[in-house]
Amino acid sequence: MTSRQIRQQFLDFFASKGHLIVPSAPLVAKNDPTLMFNNSGMAQFKDFFLGNGTPPSKRIADTQKCLRVSGKHNDLEDVGFDTYHHTMFEMLGNWSFGDYFKKEALQWSWELLTEVYKLPKDRIYVSVFEGNEKDGVPFDQEAWDIWSAMVGEDRIILGNKKDNFWEMGDTGPCGPCSEIHIDLRNADEVAAVSGKTLVNADHPQVVEIWNNVFMQFERMADGSLVPLPSKHVDTGMGFERLCMAIQGKQSNYDTDVFSNTIKFIGDKAGKTYGRSDEPFDKWADIALRVISDHIRAIAFAIADGQLPSNNKAGYVIRRILRRAVRYGYTYLGFREPFMNTIIPLLADQFDGVFPELKAQQDFIQRVILEEENSFLRTLETGLKRLDDIIKITPKNGSIDGNVVFELSDTFGFPSDLTALIARENGLSIDEEGFKTALQAQKDRSRKDSSKEATDWVIVSDEDFDFEFVGYDEFETEAKIIKYRKVKTKTGEEYHIVLDKTPFYAEMGGQVGDSGQLSVINEQGTVNIKISDTKKENDLFIHISTDKNFESFIQLITNNQSPVTAQIDTSRRHRITQNHTATHLMLSAMRQVLGSHVSQKGSYQNEDITRFDFAHFSKVTDEELAQIETIVNEKIRENIKLDEKRNVPIQEAVNAGATATFGEKYGDFVRVITFDPNFSVELCGGTHVPATGEIGMFKFAAESSVSAGVRRVEAYTGEKALSVINEQLAVINEIKELFKGQSDLVKAVKTLQEERNALAKKIEVLENEKLQETKERLFAKIISVGDINMIAEVVEVPSADALKQLAYELKAKIGDLYCVLGAEIGGKPQLAVMIADNLVESKKLNAGQIIREMAKEVKGGGGGQAFFATAGGSDVSGLAKAVEKGKSFVA
Ligand code: ATP
Ligand code: MG
Repeated sequence: MTSRQIRQQFLDFFASKGHLIVPSAPLVAKNDPTLMFNNSGMAQFKDFFLGNGTPPSKRIADTQKCLRVSGKHNDLEDVGFDTYHHTMFEMLGNWSFGDYFKKEALQWSWELLTEVYKLPKDRIYVSVFEGNEKDGVPFDQEAWDIWSAMVGEDRIILGNKKDNFWEMGDTGPCGPCSEIHIDLRNADEVAAVSGKTLVNADHPQVVEIWNNVFMQFERMADGSLVPLPSKHVDTGMGFERLCMAIQGKQSNYDTDVFSNTIKFIGDKAGKTYGRSDEPFDKWADIALRVISDHIRAIAFAIADGQLPSNNKAGYVIRRILRRAVRYGYTYLGFREPFMNTIIPLLADQFDGVFPELKAQQDFIQRVILEEENSFLRTLETGLKRLDDIIKITPKNGSIDGNVVFELSDTFGFPSDLTALIARENGLSIDEEGFKTALQAQKDRSRKDSSKEATDWVIVSDEDFDFEFVGYDEFETEAKIIKYRKVKTKTGEEYHIVLDKTPFYAEMGGQVGDSGQLSVINEQGTVNIKISDTKKENDLFIHISTDKNFESFIQLITNNQSPVTAQIDTSRRHRITQNHTATHLMLSAMRQVLGSHVSQKGSYQNEDITRFDFAHFSKVTDEELAQIETIVNEKIRENIKLDEKRNVPIQEAVNAGATATFGEKYGDFVRVITFDPNFSVELCGGTHVPATGEIGMFKFAAESSVSAGVRRVEAYTGEKALSVINEQLAVINEIKELFKGQSDLVKAVKTLQEERNALAKKIEVLENEKLQETKERLFAKIISVGDINMIAEVVEVPSADALKQLAYELKAKIGDLYCVLGAEIGGKPQLAVMIADNLVESKKLNAGQIIREMAKEVKGGGGGQAFFATAGGSDVSGLAKAVEKGKSFVA
């Protein structure tokens, strides 16, 4: 059975059991402050378990792209070394939201594995939670009973809290789980050692394939467990491991999920995986596994909008990529970029399953190529440096943290890559030392603001269906459901959840609304400011730093009164103008630049719209002008907004709506159309009722963000007008200065030409004058023994001219000792020039002399033994300074 069929059968099986099949959420997590990447199937359903939303069906199944290289789940160190942990993998899952529970879940998993996939029953082991007294959770008798009826008691293993009790986080839903393990060893090995003893013992052929989690408790901030009102099932099965079991392989990498990629890279490197280029090259095999694994993580992350970068999620991707590149370099001999060439193969492999790869194939390839190139530039030097260090590090020793930092800072070696290479050589790295070195440098880019939240305080425990009314209303009466206090780096803020709100929460690039909440009491109206609105999972969080919050909430709680929630409408309007303009701009860009232009990032606040998009060259001024013209035409056409809510996603896509890769869309979407032949987009943002309201559109800047991604910034409405007016004001001022001249450009040009001609004339005159001064000075030579001394205050136009004069005198007069002073632009300037032979014979030093002279003009200076200059602030001391200069010889 091919992996494609295996995946399909899973989905078909659960569809036949009444499950709604949904697409995978993007790999990159959205609106979840605790998660950078989705690391399990349930991540996208968190809200349903937390009770913050209603699932589209009580039974759901899917295959979810997961990445486990950061945070709670980090398998990176194992990847490539073992044969069953990946960075990116697919997790097949089925869910019950308050519907079926343990019995159905376990029976169906048994049915699917043994009857549909026909896995041998005598090779399957299962685990059941043994209970934990301290937590007050009993042994999972229910799961035990269900399993023993199907698999028999001797195949059940009791598991402890670590393996068999699942928790979403420090707080939140949790419960016991039951794992399914499979023994894939050959018959001889099975006869020799019972598989049961190898479960959870890191044996590569006795592996966990499926975990069934039964959520029945909620963990509170104080550590206590409270039973959940409705119980849920959350399961996750490793797709690649399942393929290994069904295809009768001993390793995930031998399945058709990886075999093509491995063959492709192996051919390129002249290596055959898993066999034997004699002598067997273990490291080449590891490298082939690492690369075939990592390229998937990188490709899917980029496809979902996460470009490699120097911080946070972007740095996770960069680290994975660099790890793979270095394996290829060291163990497969790749000296040129190679990772990017795998992309077409992957795109084909996932065509129809995860179409985002094929759709963005060129873009992904280009981004990876650029990353590879930039890392390969420093890789070799870095490896040499590291090699030198390794040679002088004692056996089992550790590499100095400063070196680890230097490698990361100068050669782009992520510290985990250095650690890996150290490990290959039996060494470790000084993590603490590295962190200290990093921290020392890091003060400029402050660490993540770690926010500390207290438990929610419930104000109203009535059931409610949350409603966002902000598409249609700017003000509404609402109830405060709950609030909490959060400590931030800069102070404290309050998070407020309402049952109903007109406040748009930051999403899809559009910033959150600000405004106020108010309530009327005997004293009049009391209100607090809302500074921002953010989405956390599906909750709309109104953020307030208002110092009156505590008294405000006291008032609300005491009287159980509703509040009036009001947004800042003028700010919202400006944000909205920018958002609609962004839609028009994207369509115009597609017309002018081509249909490859796709959104890679977007941001709209009240001042500006900033838009990042895939495009391979600079957008020229002419192209920008064309785009601007089209957008402004569309504004003048005053096209009416056509907003459709709750459109089935397929219908919207068929109608040609533009969706952004990496955005998560539900089954029903909102479609925003401004002329069906011009702009149709899936969008949750706010929009003007007709394009005329935007008023005006003006580009502000165009720049490069990274390989293949450009950025434009633009103004709309009043802001655009005021920016243009500011520029016009400057022009008007200039016009005023050129009174009476109709052609301003010509006037400026003429002025420039005249200026240049005058400058030339002045230069000639000054030179003449300098020659005259020089001639005059010849007459003023004083003989002091064998020294020809000149000591004068002269008139010269610049410090340079003074210097030139001194040099010319030196060229003309032998045995010269010359001290000069001049007033230049109201400031004193001094120079001392001494013939080289005098410097030697009389031990004279111009540098020292000028320092003494400079004291007379309240200044300072210096130079060499034969020539020095000084400036100062007191012109009245010039003559005295020159006198002082004389005194060194006369
Ligand atoms: P393991 O102990 O093998 O790391 P886990 O306990 O971390 O597994 P779960 O979090 O329960 O696994 O995830 C559910 C399923 O996802 C597992 O049963 C396994 O089949 C699969 N899985 C987990 N981590 C990985 C990974 N890094 N690569 C591939 N599959 C994985
Ligand atoms: Mg794990």
